[in-house]
Amino acid sequence: MMVVDVSKFSPSLERLVQKISKLPGLGRKSAARLALHILRQPEEEARELAQAILDVKTRIHLCRICSNFTEDEVCSFCSDARRDQALICVVETPGDVLRLERTGSFRGLYHVLGGTLSPLDDVGPDDLRIAELIERVKGGAVREVILATNPTTDGDTTAHYLLRALKEYGVAVSRIARGVPVGAEIEQVDEVTLASALESRTRLS
Ligand SMILES: [Zn+2]
Repeated sequence: MMVVDVSKFSPSLERLVQKISKLPGLGRKSAARLALHILRQPEEEARELAQAILDVKTRIHLCRICSNFTEDEVCSFCSDARRDQALICVVETPGDVLRLERTGSFRGLYHVLGGTLSPLDDVGPDDLRIAELIERVKGGAVREVILATNPTTDGDTTAHYLLRALKEYGVAVSRIARGVPVGAEIEQVDEVTLASALESRTRLS
């Protein structure tokens, strides 16, 4: 396909291409294709797209309790009385909440940290919503906290930090198991994963 140099057309088209190409996963070529597509669409479509972008920025904020994304003061999980209010699953991002929800197997509440501790990137406990988590546990109504940060160095560091921080509140703390993915064979799994699968084995008898 011939690459069209849209900067030759107009400064406003060039500006749109530049903005779109800043989005993750889009190079200048894809950005130019999208910009030209928007240009060909009815004005109403373009207006709705622009409004939808503005709406997510102005309407969505963090849940007062769990720091998940919501348009209300309290998110749909925290305000659902049918969920187990004594069980909190700690995750890094709102995206992790969606992934866990898709499994359909968790009926407790969430707590979104907003990242992980990362000494190299200068991210400390005050940069995450750790104090808010401790506040929730302090209330005494929480039975168990499941640490579902990623099995990365920073995710593990964060889990260890939280384990220590929660110790004095007498709450059970668990870590999600890591191991052989469902459907995978042992010969396809790397040694680190296999070692941790052995470590987080479950007893059968
Ligand atoms: Zn919430």
